[in-house]
Amino acid sequence: MTAQYQVHGDVAVITLDNPPVNGLGYLTRVAFTQGLQRAEDDPAVRAIVLTGAGKAFSGGADIKEFGSPKAIAEPNLLSVILACENASKPVVAALHSVAMGGGLELALGCHYRIAAPGCSIALPEVKLGLIPGAGGTQRLPRVLGVEAALNMIVSGEPVKSELLAQLPGQKLFDRLARSSETLLDEALALAREVADVRPLPLVRLLPCKHPQGDAYFQFARNMVKATAPRFPAPLQCVDSVERATRLPFDEGLAQERQTFLRLMWTPECRALRHLFAAERAASKIPDVPEDTPRRPIQTVAVVGAGTMGGGIAMNFLNAGLPVTLLEMKQDALDRGVATIRKNYEAQVKKGKLKQEKYDERMALLRTTLSYADIAQADLVIEAVFEDMGVKEKVFKELDRVMKPGSMLASNTSTLDLNQIARFTKRPQDVIGMHFFSPANVMKLLEVVRGEQTAKDVLATVMALGKKIKKTAVVSGVCDGFIGNRMVEQYIRQAGFLLDEGCTPAQVDRAIEKFGFAMGPFRMSDLAGNDIGWAIRKRRYAEQPDMRYSKSADLLCEQGRFGQKTGAGWYDYLPGKREAVSSSAVEAMIATHRAGLGITPRRVSDEEIVQRLVFSLINEGARLLEEGFAARAGDIDMVYITGYGFPVWRGGPMMYADTVGLFNVAQAMKRFARNPLDDARFWQPAPLLARLVAEGQTFNKA
Ligand code: NAD
Repeated sequence: MTAQYQVHGDVAVITLDNPPVNGLGYLTRVAFTQGLQRAEDDPAVRAIVLTGAGKAFSGGADIKEFGSPKAIAEPNLLSVILACENASKPVVAALHSVAMGGGLELALGCHYRIAAPGCSIALPEVKLGLIPGAGGTQRLPRVLGVEAALNMIVSGEPVKSELLAQLPGQKLFDRLARSSETLLDEALALAREVADVRPLPLVRLLPCKHPQGDAYFQFARNMVKATAPRFPAPLQCVDSVERATRLPFDEGLAQERQTFLRLMWTPECRALRHLFAAERAASKIPDVPEDTPRRPIQTVAVVGAGTMGGGIAMNFLNAGLPVTLLEMKQDALDRGVATIRKNYEAQVKKGKLKQEKYDERMALLRTTLSYADIAQADLVIEAVFEDMGVKEKVFKELDRVMKPGSMLASNTSTLDLNQIARFTKRPQDVIGMHFFSPANVMKLLEVVRGEQTAKDVLATVMALGKKIKKTAVVSGVCDGFIGNRMVEQYIRQAGFLLDEGCTPAQVDRAIEKFGFAMGPFRMSDLAGNDIGWAIRKRRYAEQPDMRYSKSADLLCEQGRFGQKTGAGWYDYLPGKREAVSSSAVEAMIATHRAGLGITPRRVSDEEIVQRLVFSLINEGARLLEEGFAARAGDIDMVYITGYGFPVWRGGPMMYADTVGLFNVAQAMKRFARNPLDDARFWQPAPLLARLVAEGQTFNKA
């Protein structure tokens, strides 16, 4: 049963019981409605308390039902709320832990509300590209006032019950309970107190006005437009709350519902819902059961205190785990620690980190030049130079000193993790933890599963990813793993576009207009053009038939490695990050182009975007087919959290589904006919071709 029914003397208690968060799925709605009817029919019952079992009052709608007939099957949430309002006996909602979305809307349909302190209250629908669809925009302003309610609805952020209870004139809570433990008793007492009060109070009957009316809503619209220009839902939140102040309740409610249903099928909403589900799915590994035992992690060691090592260490310090940093030389160690300090100090200065937290974190940091000092660490992450010889030395040493069962991770970006694992006599304990730069900031963590990585090591590292607030996605061992293998094709296309007539700024502008945080050339300047150069040199030797534009090599031959050298595809003024177009680079590209005998042509922004994004899609399809990525959603998470792909497009694979795989494949065939491009690459990946033939999509709805 998804809701329990009990009678405490003269009060019926209905307890939503649908773990983990008492989502209001179809069965829960049925069970609740039946409980309500039973209470109505029982003459001994004078009042009703509604609460939630376990960790929540209710987290809201059951998102798994979104878009399915079950979501609207009667009794739908609107009918359930109406049944509550129309009950002939008072219904008291007893809120604790979490009351969000539909859960809060249901509580607002009850006659009285009592909340335990510490309860998170929110209408988070906007985060899924929606507006609240069961009265939230009409009832919350009536109990909290227009401004407080609109702030909550537009941001979707939770606010603690005790803060809301302090708002002057608020009618959201009739009472704040002393504690979660006493909540039920206090709710029962309230129910008995009001059992005979008539008429029953209804939120819908409360007035809803804003003293500045038009001016206030215009101001709110301007704010929302400036902060979330790509999403339709926040503006619709403003409109809907405004209607609460102008229209009769039922009309406002009907329009809210219509808006909700219309937004449900916008590309933005589909993208956000997809990413919500993809993030949860990414933590599930098909052949690693969720109850796989995990190894304890009390202490962490990081080998190498360079760019990555320091940032990696910060993640664990932030999570309260002691870290020992190991280097070869004292000065490298000192530099690493100084960078960590500098990063934290900047956060303290900006008021983002309290001094005592900073002190606590630094107290967890130890440094050493000796492997003996890290031997007892439960997890060691290697972040030394990207050189197989150096990695070999480090892993042999780790194998020699580390206690049995210690997990040995490598942060390598390009080297073969299986080979690294073979340097040890315990390949089952070896795993890849591919952080992105800056490692203390970027959300993405590619967890690289070696041929022999033990399941408990994988499960432990995935859980650890969550603990350090990363989005962990599993990748198999292939060149570049998921993200960089795809980005290599994208960068290769960017190079061909230069050969054909584009400037770096034109390419960057087009893809940034599409929504990428940064175009390929600005990105390469930030990462360092020498990194790609090293990879290409390896490719020239290993895969001589793979074509590249040579302009990037010419750039590197001039020492233009990017921001760190003050010059790359763009010029950079000393100490500045702003990219300034370089006439020298444009002349170099033109000379190179002329040398190839190419007459430059005007390439449209549309072609630029398609060639860049579709190259990601084709390589993504290959990764899926070859089994290096488990799901299309995993690839989308990688691109959203690690590569600045526009969130509202849901990631490259979701974008492909939106454009239509048939259209994507047709465009690829067109690109294959361009003699200056790579015809072989543009053959649609077999998986893509099959999905087109079957009329399917990458992401199963
Ligand atoms: P880095 O050159 O900034 O730092 C490497 C550090 O390792 C140096 O401080 C060096 O003194 C130290 N070191 C070298 N050999 C050592 C040894 N035998 N024992 C102990 N310390 C040793 O390099 P980085 O950019 O931090 O890269 C480190 C690793 O992270 C590489 O495998 C790289 O591919 C990977 N990575 C880098 C990035 C990036 O953007 N920089 C991103 C993801 C992954």
